[in-house]
Amino acid sequence: MSALIARCRSLVIVSVATSLMGCATVGQINLVSEPEELAMGDAFAGELEKELRFITDPTVVGYIEALGQSLARVSQRSNITYRFHVVDTDEVNAFAVPGGYLYVNRGLIEAADTEAELAGVLGHEIGHVVGKHSARQMTQQLGISAIAGMLLGQDPGMLAQLTTQIVATGAITSYSRDMESEADTYGVQELYDAGIDPNGLATFFRKLEDMRGGQGGGTLEQFFSTHPDPGARAEAVLNQIASLPPKSGLRKDSAAFREAKARVLALPRPPSAPGQ
Ligand SMILES: [Zn+2]
Repeated sequence: MSALIARCRSLVIVSVATSLMGCATVGQINLVSEPEELAMGDAFAGELEKELRFITDPTVVGYIEALGQSLARVSQRSNITYRFHVVDTDEVNAFAVPGGYLYVNRGLIEAADTEAELAGVLGHEIGHVVGKHSARQMTQQLGISAIAGMLLGQDPGMLAQLTTQIVATGAITSYSRDMESEADTYGVQELYDAGIDPNGLATFFRKLEDMRGGQGGGTLEQFFSTHPDPGARAEAVLNQIASLPPKSGLRKDSAAFREAKARVLALPRPPSAPGQ
């Protein structure tokens, strides 16, 4: 048994080394192969489960799962398994870790006025998975050998440190502006293809910008630190929508969204977010 594990581990090392030799340009090319990215996701998800408090109401969880899967199914990376979790925190945010694990904060569900707004942010986060952004950024920032060591369980301290960072900041890493706008572009296309009004992403950016500084500003901090310049991004989203062929019947809202939101609002308030 342990010999088998040892053999599997050396295969991972060979595979990581091969991808390192195969791609010399860090930052432009994703150095982490898909199996490695999925293994990173499993490792982070395991740690996050210990740190985060999840909402388990089956109506809420089932709704987010159905909405998320409807977007993931039409995404440009529909071959991997997507998993959605609802986090019991007021922070208005959602985030993805490598390999298709997506975390939706209750604060985001409460801040969204329509299903299209919530779907816009979900589509954007799926866009980060499609672009393999977190794996690309982590490779660039930490180096391939550090990631390999973490995957092999040689550096549990680093895994724990990165998990703490995710919990505190709502992001595994800071994405570049190019990655943020790429995720917006993927998101708009996903909504359009899933039959949901992509204007939801633009109205959500605009609304959050208006809310900034006013009441609830504290719970928006994470969103703005991880998603800068919402005004310009709303503009870019609207330009992309204008270039899409007209499509009738795009859904703005649903009874299922209103029911899920009502159930979230009726739950006891969550404990304060870390550092607040
Ligand atoms: Zn983003």
